Amino acid sequence: MSYIVIDEERCKGCGLCTIGCPRKLVTLSQKPNSLGYTVAIFNNPEQCIGCCLCAEMCPDVAITVFKENRP
Ligand code: SF4
Ligand code: SF4
Repeated sequence: MSYIVIDEERCKGCGLCTIGCPRKLVTLSQKPNSLGYTVAIFNNPEQCIGCCLCAEMCPDVAITVFKENRP
């Protein structure tokens, strides 16, 4: 299964990743990081296809994508 990891301390809550995900798996939360930005969160991870569009949208390189290994 593919999945992403969001580095909350790099996130500035701009929301661009929420637009990028074709499955709407990334949303903004109410949770602030140490700088006071409300961070993006990853929902329904079982639906992630590892397309990387969320990571490509992020101007702060806060998202790392781990892709499923197919046989
Ligand atoms: S890798 Fe693709 S499907 Fe997975 S969260 Fe990012 S944009 Fe969405
Ligand atoms: S695009 Fe990057 S900085 Fe913006 S909300 Fe998403 S993870 Fe945070």
